[in-house]
Amino acid sequence: MIPSPYPCIAPTGATRTRFSATPHYPEGLYDLGADCYAWIVPNGSWGEANAGLVLGDGEAVLVDTLWDVPNTQVMLETINQTLNHPQIRTVINTHADGDHWWGNQLLPNAKFITSRASQAEMRHKRPGQMLALARLGRLLQTMGLKNWRQAGDWFVAMGAPYDFNSVRPRPAEHGFEGRSWLSIGGREIHLIEVGPAHTAGDLIVHVPDAGVIYAADVMFLNSTPVMWAGPVENWLEALATLRKLAPRVIVPGHGPLTDLSGVEAVEHYLRFITDRLRIQFDQGASARAAAFRVAQSAAFQDQDFARWEAPERIMTNAYILFRHWRGQSRPPSLPVLLKILYDQAQLAAALNDA
Ligand SMILES: [Zn+2]
Repeated sequence: MIPSPYPCIAPTGATRTRFSATPHYPEGLYDLGADCYAWIVPNGSWGEANAGLVLGDGEAVLVDTLWDVPNTQVMLETINQTLNHPQIRTVINTHADGDHWWGNQLLPNAKFITSRASQAEMRHKRPGQMLALARLGRLLQTMGLKNWRQAGDWFVAMGAPYDFNSVRPRPAEHGFEGRSWLSIGGREIHLIEVGPAHTAGDLIVHVPDAGVIYAADVMFLNSTPVMWAGPVENWLEALATLRKLAPRVIVPGHGPLTDLSGVEAVEHYLRFITDRLRIQFDQGASARAAAFRVAQSAAFQDQDFARWEAPERIMTNAYILFRHWRGQSRPPSLPVLLKILYDQAQLAAALNDA
């Protein structure tokens, strides 16, 4: 792990992650210098998402809320106590995955901004879907087949640490396309749309006077990147954009604080799996078989990323890559998505057994 040169000034004191693992770094508020802050949640697994805060003169902007109300509440209380109640008048939601905006309701007076593509996706992302997935998981757990029980365990475990019942989704009401900028208490904040990549509408937040980028989920570190949208070329282009901006520090969507060395790690992961999966695709393998073969290969297991959180996400990545290679750029339908997650749970079980 890269040791963080930026101090955690307000740790929550959590001795376990949401999934009862040993934290690799403290959860809490980190001071990035130049009145920029990050809320970092170890170890970057499902819903263990990071957020950001930039202070201007007399007002502040928050970058993302968290997956549920209780976790967002802890973050906001810590920020208020540590930084003397900054006036958060603006919230930027970096994309439409719930772990970056389902705590929005706790800032009822703020103005919410995201890309237009994320606005469109937010309309279809509802906490009821996570509750339904858990119900399906509990049903599968009662089935006779081992594969079904394993998938059931995985579906239940994914959302178990979170409270989706109290989420009242509040999608961002302001949308932009391409590039935009805000003036927050005299500071310029740049918003750059880089999706579709991880999702349809990913954006990154650049604070030029501080050399800070809140990269959200185009950056996963020590946690496996998952591609719900693609194409992978756009994701690599997004990483090239990060490089061009030459930041001092990058706050990833999941995982510890990093710099351009983290960008290199994500590029390496995406290039590696794309190359290996393409060979399988050209040989006529199914996405499912290809993901199993690549993830279980010695070449994959030799890489650092084989030990990142949730290596089974290569299953989703394989399905999305294969769809693009077949000329299907539309997002998978709900039944297809469930099949992908079912196969992903099988792969998780196989990798854990090994
Ligand atoms: Zn996320």
